[in-house]
Amino acid sequence: MAKITRKPVPRKAAVPKKKAKAAVAKPKAPAKKSLKAMKPWTPAEIREVFSRFRKANPEPKGELEHVNPFTLLVAVVLSAQATDAGVNKATRALFEVADTPQKMLDLGEERLRDYIKTIGLYRTKAKNVIALSAKVLSDFGGEVPRTRAEIESLPGAGRKTANVVLNMAFGEHTMAVDTHVFRVGNRTGLAPGKTPLDVELGLEKVIPAEFMLHAHHWLILHGRYTCLARKPRCEVCLINDLCRWPEKTV
Ligand code: SF4
Repeated sequence: MAKITRKPVPRKAAVPKKKAKAAVAKPKAPAKKSLKAMKPWTPAEIREVFSRFRKANPEPKGELEHVNPFTLLVAVVLSAQATDAGVNKATRALFEVADTPQKMLDLGEERLRDYIKTIGLYRTKAKNVIALSAKVLSDFGGEVPRTRAEIESLPGAGRKTANVVLNMAFGEHTMAVDTHVFRVGNRTGLAPGKTPLDVELGLEKVIPAEFMLHAHHWLILHGRYTCLARKPRCEVCLINDLCRWPEKTV
């Protein structure tokens, strides 16, 4: 009888495990339990928080470089999912040649792309900046409009863009909620909310009017330099005695 020899079965190549998704700095909404445990803020405490921010930094400034409302609008549109420093690096040269809607149109989409190609999503953003420049010219006489609805009607501009422009260019008491403001609003318990809009409306409700012009910048700067996402610097935090976060480290 012929001897049966088994062919060696090739081993299955090890299938690499799915790559862990890159950490996306998605704002995390607070757990229900921790919200309940937070002691509500009193108006006097809230006033105290913002008085301390004001004393430490009376005239806070945004970090996005711009030379007029139009370049501010463009810078904010470019800043979606990008850092202010990265946007500034690109816009310094761009705004030298295109600081009005007409000059931006004259520059054209292709050359604009060259200026901003270091910024994430630059192709879509270039398209939007050209389209918004055309709309500012055709619908608003070349001036950045001054109402939320009109700003939000521009390509690439959403609620946050409108809030930043209304606040920084036109001095309105708006509260733009980015990832830093969202985190600070939730952690401190000043305005807990599941969405940026919840936090925006919550902050507008509790912050006294006298602080509203600068509140957006104080909270952004607090989140960017002190109340950091991974390792908040509670030991040097100006408001650590008032903050409601159960995990604060002081
Ligand atoms: S005490 Fe800590 S958690 Fe609270 S606001 Fe300050 S840095 Fe953030």
